[in-house]
Order: sequence, then structure tokens, then C-alpha cells
Amino acid sequence: MRKIAIIGGGQSGLQLALGLQKRGDDVTVVSNRTPEQIRKGRVTSSQFMFHESLQNERDLGINFWEKECPNTDGIAFAVPGPDGTPALFWETKLDHPGQSVDQRLKFAGWTEEFAKRGGKLMIQDAGVAEVEEYAKNNDLVIVASGKGEIARLFETDAANTPYTTPMRALALTYVKNMVPRKTFTAVAFNLIPGVGEYFVFPALTLNGACEIMVFEGVPGGPMDCWADVKTPAQHLQRSKEILQKFLPWEAERCKNIELTDEMGILAGRFAPGVRKPVCKLPSGRLAMGMGDVVVLNDPITGQGSNTASKAAKIYMARIAERGDKPFDAAWMQETFDTFWNYAQWVVKWTNSLLTPPPPHILQLMGAASQIPPLAGRIANGFNNPPDFNPWWFDANEAGKLIASLTPKG
Ligand SMILES: Cc1cc2nc3c(=O)[nH]c(=O)nc-3n(C[C@H](O)[C@H](O)[C@H](O)COP(=O)(O)OP(=O)(O)OC[C@H]3O[C@@H](n4cnc5c(N)ncnc54)[C@H](O)[C@@H]3O)c2cc1C
Repeated sequence: MRKIAIIGGGQSGLQLALGLQKRGDDVTVVSNRTPEQIRKGRVTSSQFMFHESLQNERDLGINFWEKECPNTDGIAFAVPGPDGTPALFWETKLDHPGQSVDQRLKFAGWTEEFAKRGGKLMIQDAGVAEVEEYAKNNDLVIVASGKGEIARLFETDAANTPYTTPMRALALTYVKNMVPRKTFTAVAFNLIPGVGEYFVFPALTLNGACEIMVFEGVPGGPMDCWADVKTPAQHLQRSKEILQKFLPWEAERCKNIELTDEMGILAGRFAPGVRKPVCKLPSGRLAMGMGDVVVLNDPITGQGSNTASKAAKIYMARIAERGDKPFDAAWMQETFDTFWNYAQWVVKWTNSLLTPPPPHILQLMGAASQIPPLAGRIANGFNNPPDFNPWWFDANEAGKLIASLTPKG
């Protein structure tokens, strides 16, 4: 039995804590919010998760909302043309459905379950002194505090952090009464060149099924338009105005939408980045980073929760393998490197979508409307971004993939 403290009760921290607890470890979770505060608080994410990440939760038996949560069966992609209809469009089913469970529901429920199963829950906004204390009294301290300030304990990995300023102005609007898509449920992803992206999909929130609208505005552009919004009603109105202006077919679905609740909105921005996984505390003791603390992606590809889930799975396996040997710096670095073998492709692919696309990516996205297996390959890559290597990043390889999937004759 190992003694492990996890700072941050979010996707990666709680998934790992519940997994270690099941294994019989002595686990402490430090959370700066009570379950009640989480439930009553603001939405934090759109948290869409693909098959493999959902499977991680099923494997641990913590997929408590799976039956209630609507499935999302596919991905649709559109680029508007000058006449207000899509100039480019394709849609395809995923091999397996995805789901989004409001983090307010999930984190509050998981925290309560952890405590109910006998886990030590500390409600505390941990700073360096607290991390020191946990490092002194535990075999391992993992910092999984998301975008919280404490992530700054970990040094930026400049080589893997190409952007130092936010690349998108983000907004979320959780709504009811949206008209469903005609064919099948999908993450409907719309790219408005020079303006930003809008995607929308079904989800489960505190008061049942809903749709989550995600806005990614290019900074300084017309979708970077939330600064003067003061009330939830204005936020909803601004969401509709954006669609009326740029995506009329999406606006059609939104004539009768209403907010799920007054806290079902968010506007903000952050710079994506990678940090080094091992932090030496002032005492010389160590702490290890996990999830957004070390690999923070822009939400444009919907990967943060997915990557956090995959990190928790890898860290869990590495802890199990370690037996009763010490969790030293070399073990921490190797654990992160194992995770980075996967996560580097998430980072590279996500970052590639934050700047105007090179010709071969335009060609891939265009060809997908003519070649259904290519659309399927792109859509299912969201479940496993290493699959985008090498063809997403290399014009030659993109050409080869298109040729190999183009029907002969
Ligand atoms: C607008 C937006 C949309 C997104 N959409 C998606 C999506 O569709 N799909 C997807 O996969 N990802 C998405 N993400 C990203 C995803 O939500 C995160 O990447 C994921 O939750 C990260 O998990 P984590 O475990 O690292 O941290 P989190 O889940 O953020 O959890 C960290 C927890 O630590 C707590 N905490 C912070 N500081 C301290 C402290 N000092 N002491 C104690 N507790 C602390 C926080 O309150 C929080 O509960 C989105 C993010 C945003 C902002």
C-alpha cells in the first residue's frame, strides 16, 4: 500500500484517486472546492470525451452518468461560403460514440464517492507550504490542479510551448431546446476562416440533457466579443448573434434556445503550454505534475479531459508497477515520458489548428467531403491523435493518404 496525495480534484486527479483507492492505496485528495461549491459553481469546460477516455472510466467503474448522458455518434465539419450556406461540408459517424458529462456533476459526484469509499478529502487551496507538507507525509505527491496558479511551480518547457499568449477568446453556452441535427448526433464543428471556430454537441448537465455551444474566437477578431457582456441573458443573446452573422444554418437550430442555468456560461482565455513534470520544492522534496498542469491544450480539438484521463491511466499503471520502490525523479520523468509518447501528438495537432492552415490541411479537409473513409480517419483521430502522424503534418504523407483512400477506377 502506497501513501499518495493528489492536489486537485478534477478529471485526472479524481480518476487516479478512485483508481488507486480501488487498488488499496492510502490516498488523499486536496480540493479547493467542496462538492456543493462545484455543483453551484460556473461551468468549467465542454469536456467532450471520446471512446478510449470513456473506456478508462468504465474500466474503473466510475462511469456513473453513462446511461443518462446522450451519446454523440459522429463529427460534422463545415466552412461557410459567401451566400450563408456551407461551402464545404462533411459528416461521418465515429467508430464509437462520445459523451460529455458536465464537470460540475462529475467532479462533485466523484469527490463524494471518493470520500464515501473512505478516501481522505482535504478542502484546501493548496500553496507551496501545503504541497511541502504533503510531500513530507506521503510517498508521492501529484499536482493535478488544472489551470490553477500552483502549476507555476513547474518550469515551462519552452521547446514545446510555441505560443506565449492566448490563441483564442473562449466562450461556453449551455442550452436547452436546440433543434437536433437532421442526420445523427454529432460534434458539429464549424470553421470560419480568420474569425474562429464554433462547435456544438449534446451533453448531460445538472438538470438533464442539453447542448453545449463552444466559441473559439481569433483574438481581436469579430468573435472575440465577450468583454461587454454583463449578464447571462446578454451572453445567450451574443451567442445567437454570432451564429446569425456567420453560421445561419446553426442559428436556425437556436431560435428557441434557453440557458440551462445562470451558471451555464463561461468566457475567458489562456495560453496553451507544456511544463516539465518534476518540481523540486524549496525543501528539496519532489512533486509531480499531471493533466493540464503539465500539458495544457487550447480546447479547439476537445482534448484536455481526454488527455487528462489518459495521463491518469498511465500514471496509475506506473505506480502499480513500482511496487514499494521510491518514487524518485527518474521514475517521475520516465512516467511522464511514457505519457508524452502519446501527448506530444495531441499538442502538435492541436497547436496546428491555432494558426491559418497550410495547403495540405485544406486539401485533406476538402478531400474528406469526397472520400468518406478519409472523413472517418480524421474524425476517429480525435479518439487517438497519434494517428494523425505523419499525414497531418507532412504534405507528402497527406497526398499519399488521400491517394490510398481514393476509390480506384
Ligand atoms: C472552454 C473550455 C472547453 C473545453 N472543452 C473540452 C472538451 O470538449 N473536451 C476535452 O477533453 N477537454 C476540454 N477542455 C479541457 C478540460 O476541461 C481540461 O483539460 C481537464 O478538465 C483537465 O483536467 P485536470 O485533471 O488537469 O484538471 P481539472 O479538471 O481542471 O481539475 C483541477 C481541479 O483542481 C482544483 N484546484 C486548482 N488549484 C487548486 C489548489 N491550489 N488546491 C486544490 N485544488 C485546486 C480545481 O478547482 C479543479 O477542480 C475544455 C476547457 C475549456 C476551458
